[in-house]
Amino acid sequence: QIRYAKAKEMNPITRKLDYFTRVFYQNEYAKELRMGNMGALLQEDYEQTAEEKIACAKKYAPKLIGISLASELITSVLFNVGLLGYLMWRYLTDVAFTLGDFSVGISATWKLFMRVNQLIGFLAQFQEHSIYAEKFRTFVTQKPQILNGTEKAEAFKSLELRHVSFTYPFPEKNPKQVLSDVSFTVRKGEKIAIVGQNGSGKTTLVKLLLRFYDPTQGHILCNGKWIGEYPIASYRNQFGTVFQDFQLFSETVAENIMVKRPLSGQQRKDAETALQKADMLERINDLPNKMDTLVGREFAPDGAVFSGGETQKLAIARAIAKDAPVLILDEPSSALDPIAENKMFETIFDSFRDKTVIYILHRLSSATFADRIYLLENGQIAEQGTHSELIAQNGKYADMFHKQAEKYIS
Ligand code: ADP
Repeated sequence: QIRYAKAKEMNPITRKLDYFTRVFYQNEYAKELRMGNMGALLQEDYEQTAEEKIACAKKYAPKLIGISLASELITSVLFNVGLLGYLMWRYLTDVAFTLGDFSVGISATWKLFMRVNQLIGFLAQFQEHSIYAEKFRTFVTQKPQILNGTEKAEAFKSLELRHVSFTYPFPEKNPKQVLSDVSFTVRKGEKIAIVGQNGSGKTTLVKLLLRFYDPTQGHILCNGKWIGEYPIASYRNQFGTVFQDFQLFSETVAENIMVKRPLSGQQRKDAETALQKADMLERINDLPNKMDTLVGREFAPDGAVFSGGETQKLAIARAIAKDAPVLILDEPSSALDPIAENKMFETIFDSFRDKTVIYILHRLSSATFADRIYLLENGQIAEQGTHSELIAQNGKYADMFHKQAEKYIS
């Protein structure tokens, strides 16, 4: 129990130390650490945390050392002194008790002592592990909040948000409603743009569509049925996604694109086609092992390192290769220059001509491609329509569009 209490207190301290180690080790922090004073701040925190770790170890040391000393003493006195004394006494007082009996006695006593000691150790370990097992059991028996349905998914026809509101459960004291009474329908083949200021709830809307959370109020329907009726994996499988913070994994380029292993000849061809469409094939073919080059330098000194824009293009290649009926893009062009962005949207709308595309945008120039635009403001749909309708309306969208356009024209 004492060891358990110590581990419990030590855990957050160790996690903090792990964080500092990670920050100094991972590539993405390297530039900031070199440029500013953050390294010194973190090192100070690291040293303070290391002191906390030492203090925690010291706090429990007397009890732990006391207990192991006491148990050593008891067992040693009982077995070594007690039994040895007894054997000695028998040898001295009993003529029939030979030197052979004495030495056999010592070796038997020693073996018995070792075995009993081991047994006591095991019993103590059992008890210690059962405390951890209890914690683990509580964790694995947690009921998921997003429940699986059983309905078989049919070919995609539509997605509908019906009076959807959402509040994150954090911060607990003052939770803020992020989406309020949002309703709209997206039909097969439509291209829908979602625009709005930072923090207006666009990404949250995408998370709800992908069922990372369920709405606090209202429902999302796919093909006319509540999305909770479908198994989560098969529901999500309908979507190809490109997130703002898209991640490449330390696997080969081809595996990052196809998300599969091993790859058949056809799948390798599909990966190549997707890379070609995303304008990355030439770059990949220049790599030492082409599509089979490992991504990142963490495990391979000659691994491939990509720029932000190239990473986004690879994300798009992955989405193209998945060939899902609905494509969701959360600011897919933030790391691209305007020319590359334009080309990317042309590729996407060409590859997904008959499919549904829902895309979040900052630069409104690409919203002109959309069949319908929704402008979110403080979690509500403030305006909706096609680009020309919204420009004619001369409201917030038109204002945002003109302000952005002015920057390019002047
Ligand atoms: P947008 O994509 O329009 O910039 P988001 O949907 O990311 O906006 O965020 C909307 C609001 O929700 C923001 O105020 C943000 O701080 C808050 N938010 C986003 N994610 C979480 C989260 N996991 N927990 C609590 N609040 C969050």
